[in-house]
Amino acid sequence: MAFSMTSAEYVDYLVLAGREIEQNGDYVTALDAKTGDGDHWVNLNMGFQKLISMEGELRALPLAEMLKKVGMTLMSAIGGSSGVLYGSSYIAAAKALKDRDTLDIQGVRLLLETQLQAIMDRGKAQPGWKTMIDSLYEGVQALSAALDAGADDRAAVEALKQGANQGMEHTREMEAVKGRASYQSNKGVGELDPGAVTMCMQLQCLGDYILSHKL
Ligand code: ADP
Ligand code: MG
Repeated sequence: MAFSMTSAEYVDYLVLAGREIEQNGDYVTALDAKTGDGDHWVNLNMGFQKLISMEGELRALPLAEMLKKVGMTLMSAIGGSSGVLYGSSYIAAAKALKDRDTLDIQGVRLLLETQLQAIMDRGKAQPGWKTMIDSLYEGVQALSAALDAGADDRAAVEALKQGANQGMEHTREMEAVKGRASYQSNKGVGELDPGAVTMCMQLQCLGDYILSHKL
C-alpha cells in the first residue's frame, strides 16, 4: 500500500515529535552535560514548543510554505549550532519540494536527503563525526536501499526507523571531530551524541506517524 501525507499531517507529526522531545529533557540534558555544554535539549525544546504554539497557522499553509516557515521559526527560536542546522535543513527542504502538495514515500526520501545534505553543508561535517548527522545519514541510507530493492512503503519506513536507530547507536563508539565533545581527552567515546539522539527521536516519530496513520 502507498501513502500520501498532506502539509497538515506533516504538522501533526511535528507536534508528536515536539511532545516526544519535551518528555525526554532529563535524559538528553544529562547526555549533553557529559559531552557538550548541556543546552541542546533546552534549545531544541524551545524550537518545537514554538512550532506547537503555531500549529493552526502551520497546518493552513501549503507544503513548501509550511516547511519554510518551520525552518525560519526553528532558526530563530533554537540557539546553538542546532538552530542554524535545523533551520537550514527545513529551508532547503522547502526549496526541494516546492512543486509538491503532498509527501509520498519518494517525497519523504527527497525531504530527508535534502535535509541531510543541508546539515552537512551548513555544519561542514560528515557522517562518522559523532553528530546529529549520523542518525539521519544511516536512516536515509537504509530508506534508499530498501526502496531501490523494491520494498513496499511499510518496509521502507521500517528500514528508515531501524537505520536511524543504528546511526544513533553508532555515535557511542565514534570520536567527536567537531564541537565541544572534540575538546575532551576521550572525544566523547562511550557516550551517545545528544544531537544524534534527538534527531533519532524525530525520525522514529515520523516513521511511527506514517505507519500508524497512513499505512
Ligand atoms: P552547540 O554545539 O552550539 O552547543 P547544540 O547544543 O544546539 O549546539 O547542539 C549540539 C548538537 O549539535 C551536537 O550533539 C551535535 O549532534 C550537533 N552538532 C554540533 N555541531 C555540528 C556540526 N557542525 N554539524 C552537525 N551537527 C552538529
Ligand atoms: Mg550546546
